[in-house]
Amino acid sequence: MSDLLILNMSKIKQNIKRSLKDEQLCSAVLNSCLRSSAKRDNTVDEIDDLPAARQTARTGRQRSLDELDILHKQFETSFKSAGGNLHYADTAEEACRIIVRILKRANAHQGVKAKSMVSEEIGLGKELVQAGIDAIESDLGEYIVQLAGEPPSHITAPALHRSKESIGRLFAEKLHIPYTDDPVELTEIARNVLRERYLNAEFGISGANFVIAESGHIMVVENEGNGRLGASMPKVFIAITGIEKVIPSLRDIPPILRLLARSATGQRATSYVNLLRPANNKEDAPDEFHLVFVDNGRRRTLVDPLMREMLLCIRCGACLNICPVYRSVGGHAYDSVYPGPMGAVLSNLLGKEPMMQPELPALSTLCGACKDECPVEIDLPGLLLELRARAKKPAFERIAAASWRWTMSTPTRYDLAGRMAKLSGSIFGGVLPGKGFLNKETSFRREIE
Ligand code: SF4
Repeated sequence: MSDLLILNMSKIKQNIKRSLKDEQLCSAVLNSCLRSSAKRDNTVDEIDDLPAARQTARTGRQRSLDELDILHKQFETSFKSAGGNLHYADTAEEACRIIVRILKRANAHQGVKAKSMVSEEIGLGKELVQAGIDAIESDLGEYIVQLAGEPPSHITAPALHRSKESIGRLFAEKLHIPYTDDPVELTEIARNVLRERYLNAEFGISGANFVIAESGHIMVVENEGNGRLGASMPKVFIAITGIEKVIPSLRDIPPILRLLARSATGQRATSYVNLLRPANNKEDAPDEFHLVFVDNGRRRTLVDPLMREMLLCIRCGACLNICPVYRSVGGHAYDSVYPGPMGAVLSNLLGKEPMMQPELPALSTLCGACKDECPVEIDLPGLLLELRARAKKPAFERIAAASWRWTMSTPTRYDLAGRMAKLSGSIFGGVLPGKGFLNKETSFRREIE
């Protein structure tokens, strides 16, 4: 590890030291990761031709990214014609503003939220609290970390750093009930609290694993039934997802689902695969059905030829479970919404500008286990190495590259840059290439607006 990276690691180093001193945390994280990886191996090995299955899933995801502009256009037509309200947010702040505005307009003050890493990414929980809106997490793991006032420590198992004893103490303290560490009793207690909240919920918010261009469906994969309840009981439902999550048709789901649950939890299939559409069943459907697409750096990543690969990610969490660094220190050490190998990459691609967490790529042994485990074969070690190289570049070079990517990421910005260059050209003789320079990835935004 270079001196530069060590010097920059003070906050992360403190987190790591704290994690390593916490024996309960270390043992809970390690045991959970070992169990998940073993379960993953058992069910993934059942697939006859695993290399072919992974290749099919990867190719499908790549095709979706290649055709993203067309797919967004198709989705917009099918979703809106079914009665859905579609929103696009360039930044995390804009996404939060849109959601708060929808809820205020609908006079919805309390509701339930199903698990969504994008909502964590945009900091929605804090924004809702500030707006006086009460949203309770309905996924058991998320409910536990919300009660504890902690961020999730894993993308699919938010409370994996906690033992049943620590959850028992937390419930006793926060819910004023007698202590128990029986997992069945603890689950029952959370269920009773949440049932009450569902009955009075004025809104439901959920992430979406994918959205389907051809049919306008939103796919939510889950195990607890909370996603389904949150989408059907309240009068307002809001789904949030990244702009990269559009896939062409329902036929594209099975190759991904075949690997997603196995890689994530070692299940052959999750308990629920919800395909939600506005007003597809009028009695059960909410009055308002919204989808918020979040960019937050994704378009910028789409035009980065090396980093674009990270947008293939299906958020299974298998790379976290196998990673020797994650297994040793857990998710909170990363100081980022997305931890582990995928988080060390993604945290440097998303947000206002790239490379906002330049020390994270150093948290890897580059053993390659993450790549071996990844269902869509993302070259995580290669991306981590590239980010390490970028982190060492002088600041002015990083800023110049970021400015170039920002300018090229939308036709409007590019046109504006062209006009400014023309203006400066009349003074200094400068020129920019013509409009045809834009590639198809950068054009989808203009198509859908
Ligand atoms: S990078 Fe691969 S293994 Fe890691 S969460 Fe994404 S899809 Fe899963």
